Amino acid sequence: MKPTDIATPDYFHKVVDCQWACPAHTPVPEYIRLIAAGRYSDAYMINWQSNVFPGILGRTCDRPCEPACRRGRVEEGEAICRLKRVAADKKDDIRHRLPKRALRKNGKRIAFVGAGPASLTAARDLAPLGYQCTIYDGDAQAGGMIRSQIPKFRLPETVIDEEVGYILDMGIEFQGGTRVDSLAALLGEGYDAVMVGSGAPRGRDLDIPGRKEAAKNIHIGIDWLSSVSFGHVDKIGKRVIVLGGGNTAMDCCRSSRRLGGDDVKVIVRSGFEEMKASPWEKEDAMHEGIPIINYHVPKSFTHEDGRLTGVMFEKVAATQDEQGRRQLVPTGEPEIHFACDDVLIAVGQENAFPWIERDSGVKF
Ligand code: SF4
Repeated sequence: MKPTDIATPDYFHKVVDCQWACPAHTPVPEYIRLIAAGRYSDAYMINWQSNVFPGILGRTCDRPCEPACRRGRVEEGEAICRLKRVAADKKDDIRHRLPKRALRKNGKRIAFVGAGPASLTAARDLAPLGYQCTIYDGDAQAGGMIRSQIPKFRLPETVIDEEVGYILDMGIEFQGGTRVDSLAALLGEGYDAVMVGSGAPRGRDLDIPGRKEAAKNIHIGIDWLSSVSFGHVDKIGKRVIVLGGGNTAMDCCRSSRRLGGDDVKVIVRSGFEEMKASPWEKEDAMHEGIPIINYHVPKSFTHEDGRLTGVMFEKVAATQDEQGRRQLVPTGEPEIHFACDDVLIAVGQENAFPWIERDSGVKF
């Protein structure tokens, strides 16, 4: 038998299922015990150390910890995510407990591309050690997709300002409104390291017939959410179809509801259970009277005089191939038309690095 390896913290983390399931390995039982004792600030700091944005995550985390909660084996699991919000909302001023600005710099300069959670987290850990951190972002304010894509009704701006502010106040230079368009130029500024924290900022499009002709009323979901967030868009047609089954699709349909969409539908190619959206996000959408229609694959956009009139769908059914793999096959029924005024495409996101030169030595 192999001896137990307790040299790595993983051994201890694995013992606590929820802590192991959390990508940041947040010590869940510890902070819940502190909340039970009314020690909200202490509970917040335990969270802050491991997951950096407790107030934000307490409202938006995908909560992989909750299905792992052992209490779920006997009754309902703990509301781990929302308890994080409890700690964040009920804590006292904790600023004096945060790491101080480094008194002496160590002479190393680091550039961060993108002011989202990845760059902010790395800068939070490096700035107090004396590294001179500069974060670049095309948007005027820091936060990245936290700020631009998550609807305000799920995450108030004040919570973002507070938790992003804790980090920027550690002596980090923020170059807002400065889009990096060349890695070579950035390296030419003599940085000792560059961190690429620009995320997956490009929403996938759907190149099907009618896309170009009806372009005016077909929007890429994440771009549309940004426009809503920055106040550039404040209304949408009465009949809206959201294509896609992830959390972005759920944000799109619920935002549409608030911007004038009376008849909003989510239409997805997969089955309900296979949708990428978290169960509670689907629940919230349905609770707002938004139907989710599964097993429909978009085939073309219909239009008249340059105006979108609807979407044609092919109905599919889930079967298994010879290897037992799940596949979607057309049912053979005639295509079905759903009329609409606007379409939001939320079928995935991808990385986009047009600013990294091909000969930079960075491999993709
Ligand atoms: S809510 Fe998110 S950050 Fe918090 S413990 Fe669960 S997985 Fe980790």
